[in-house]
Amino acid sequence: MTARIDAVRGDITQSDCDAIVNAANSGLMGGGGVDGAIHRAAGPELLQHCRDLKAHYPCGFPVGAAAAIPGCALKARWVIQTVGPNRHRGETDPADLAACFANSLDEAVRVGARSVAFPAISAGVFGWDGDEVARIAVDAVRRSPVLGRLDLVQFVLFSDELLAKFQRALSTR
Ligand code: ADP
Repeated sequence: MTARIDAVRGDITQSDCDAIVNAANSGLMGGGGVDGAIHRAAGPELLQHCRDLKAHYPCGFPVGAAAAIPGCALKARWVIQTVGPNRHRGETDPADLAACFANSLDEAVRVGARSVAFPAISAGVFGWDGDEVARIAVDAVRRSPVLGRLDLVQFVLFSDELLAKFQRALSTR
């Protein structure tokens, strides 16, 4: 068996998945977009877990890495912090974005999650084209060697436009 991969429109903070992935920034202390929404929904306790994680990364959390912290007040049991490449800073390597998806799935399996929700990492403030993010995300998830240890990987998109892009990527083999 392998995980079902699908895409829905919605607010990732309301996800029923065991783990939700946060498109954080390397400072890990919260920000705008999906990061801010997750912090608001998870409550202030999340920030303490971010501080603990940050202590291990004095030079900043590396682009493409992933680490799980407790979901606090969220329905999700874990928040997996990952940092996408920032196109505005010249971070244009698709391998870095693919690593966010691949490493987040590895981390989800490591902590025992069976279902994982992803936002469109780097498609907001970090300036990547939504179609490109969708293609890279779907490809990285399909290639993941841990897919057989998960039940569901769900992309949760904040707009109909992005949802359509992910649906298109999912319909392409
Ligand atoms: P990045 O800095 O990695 O680009 P952003 O948070 O700016 O991250 O945007 C990533 C994507 O997350 C964007 O498509 C944005 O619309 C979307 N987003 C924002 N809030 C939410 C939310 N609550 N649930 C799901 N997606 C969201």
